[in-house]
Amino acid sequence: MKQESLLDQVIEAFRCLPGVGPKSAQRMLLYLLERDRDGGRRLALVLTEAMQKIGNCRTCRNLTEAEMCGICSDKGRESTVLCVVETPADVIAIEQSASYRGQYFVLMGTLSPIEGRGPQEIGVEQLVERCQSGINEVIIAVSSTVEGEATAYYIAEALKSLSVTVSRIAQGIPLGGELEFVDGGTLSHAIEGRTIV
Ligand code: ZN
Repeated sequence: MKQESLLDQVIEAFRCLPGVGPKSAQRMLLYLLERDRDGGRRLALVLTEAMQKIGNCRTCRNLTEAEMCGICSDKGRESTVLCVVETPADVIAIEQSASYRGQYFVLMGTLSPIEGRGPQEIGVEQLVERCQSGINEVIIAVSSTVEGEATAYYIAEALKSLSVTVSRIAQGIPLGGELEFVDGGTLSHAIEGRTIV
């Protein structure tokens, strides 16, 4: 059997990226080989390092190379409000909107039986535990997709017996919309206009 060339192997590897087909994978690799080998080496190096060192914050589950992320270890932030989001990209979007100075909890997805994500995968138990230590208010900021709605409902139910106020952002977030694509102004409006569930 003929061994696949290195060129083909790299093109195939590039295709693990979302939205990258064989043509664009080939274009990217050829660009690096023909015009920017230094850039290619740097990319390979930092990518390897990132894959080895970046894990999840033990408090909020966001991606970090430290045991605890920068937001969780920031003493200047409000410590009694917790915002529950789906992905690290949502944290970045909310931080950029500069409308929120509390804590986060990152689910790393929504409940999805099809994709094999249950309450354990999205860390519900850890979230409940977290809410028992000094948290007064939980803002559920998940997408208004079908999975997002089911997730929000499940979380609200799980937190029901605790003495925390649970609210959901709603206003301005388009139905079926994913949070990370919402602009900062809309996002800060949505956080301010949250409703108690
Ligand atoms: Zn954290």
